Amino acid sequence: MDFQQFNLHPQIQAGVEALGYRNPTPIQRDAIPPVLEGRDVMGLAQTGTGKTAAFGLPLLTRLVPGPRGKLRALVLAPTRELAEQINDALNAMGRFTRLRSITVYGGVNINPQIKKLKEGVEIVVACPGRLLDHISQGTVDLTGVEALVLDEADQMFDMGFLPDVRRILRALPAKRQTLMFSATMPDDIRKLAQEILHQPVTVQVSRTAPAATVSHALYPVPQHLKTPLLLELLRHSDTESVLVFTKTKHRAKRVGEQLEKSGYRAASLQGNLSQNRRQAALDGFRDGTFQILVATDIAARGIDVSQVSHVINYDIPDTAEAYTHRIGRTGRAARTGDAFTMVTTEDAVMVRSIERVLGSPIERRRMEGFDYTVPAPKKDAEFARPPREPQRRREKPASPAAAGGQGGAAHGARPAGSPPRGQEKRGATATPGTRPAGQPAATGERSGSRPANQPPAGKHAVGAGTRTSQRPPSHPARRGGTR
Ligand code: AMP
Repeated sequence: MDFQQFNLHPQIQAGVEALGYRNPTPIQRDAIPPVLEGRDVMGLAQTGTGKTAAFGLPLLTRLVPGPRGKLRALVLAPTRELAEQINDALNAMGRFTRLRSITVYGGVNINPQIKKLKEGVEIVVACPGRLLDHISQGTVDLTGVEALVLDEADQMFDMGFLPDVRRILRALPAKRQTLMFSATMPDDIRKLAQEILHQPVTVQVSRTAPAATVSHALYPVPQHLKTPLLLELLRHSDTESVLVFTKTKHRAKRVGEQLEKSGYRAASLQGNLSQNRRQAALDGFRDGTFQILVATDIAARGIDVSQVSHVINYDIPDTAEAYTHRIGRTGRAARTGDAFTMVTTEDAVMVRSIERVLGSPIERRRMEGFDYTVPAPKKDAEFARPPREPQRRREKPASPAAAGGQGGAAHGARPAGSPPRGQEKRGATATPGTRPAGQPAATGERSGSRPANQPPAGKHAVGAGTRTSQRPPSHPARRGGTR
């Protein structure tokens, strides 16, 4: 099957060809026809399955013939990185159209967004908090919205965005096409889907199991030997680009520094970093300036780095789902990838639950020649202890003062080619119009300290997530928080 069969608009088909897509992925095969027909769709798919094009291509096809200068499609995403990534993908798919898509998210100056909205755009890719700011200030007109996409709805829920999403829904025209994508289907998401989707077509790919092209291995190791083992793993593996996950942003920063000291081109993505520094780390990772990016889960969500050869879990994630999200960064689009997880004796329960999701035991490996008997240091026992649960901070309202310059704990020099401090490389809003296929990465709209999992970080610490979550008390992910 090829894309010709969908009868996409010729300008969109040309975009597909320019992107080099030959065959639709399963989610595209199943979702494109109903979206083209104007049906509501519930898509159960995780990142890496091609879900952005699954809604983007038919949505753009429907938008091409209509009016310009009016906001007609709204995409809601939980994180800045994902918003940027979707926006770039839409601009790449629609590069032969005159459709304009911009991003709208917090933590950056609101004024450029207001200016772009005033100039007229057809598509907005937004994080909920900042979009609500625009709604309350009257700087966005939603009356012409024909289609709404809720992407990574489960993540949106985990981050406490559901009340914001409901408020946005109230501001939208009731008559519209609604598409919802989620990697998982917790009860609240099911309930929301029942409320807002009208006779939806449900399309589902590969449940929550990670890509079959990824090979998994566990490396049992005492807590204090994780960094030496990480260095050993890197030395012995044929790694192209490596995402290393830690449980806390502090550990991400420290591990990034340790890698750097050992001579690796590494950066770390962590909270509290300004958007431009995060972007610089992500760009540096994507273009190969950094070979290793150390991150927490939240920053990693939605990051599209197609060439990640290895995911190394320095700390095991808190849920099996978070594991599949992490591993989703490798083995994408039919490439092969390796997923190494360092485990301590405390991780036994989580290992079992991950194995249940994978449907088979994960191979235990021992690194030949590695001295597992080195005792824990008496002093400086930072890495001899299991990571602490991060503190949560209350969410601060987005303000222009937050724009562009929240220092962040970045360390090291800026990667080559990154913008000077205080200067957004991509601007607060993405440049309207079409953009070539290279995509930027996004980070959580919400920053501050997140519960246990945060986004990934590059060698020269560039932080990710930005707002603190207000998690509803009952959801498991909000307790002890891992994603
Ligand atoms: P997504 O799940 O939307 O984040 O997409 C994952 C990656 O797959 C992105 O790098 C896309 O550019 C790529 N991709 C999406 N659809 C296709 C396709 N039909 N053929 C090849 N690559 C694709």
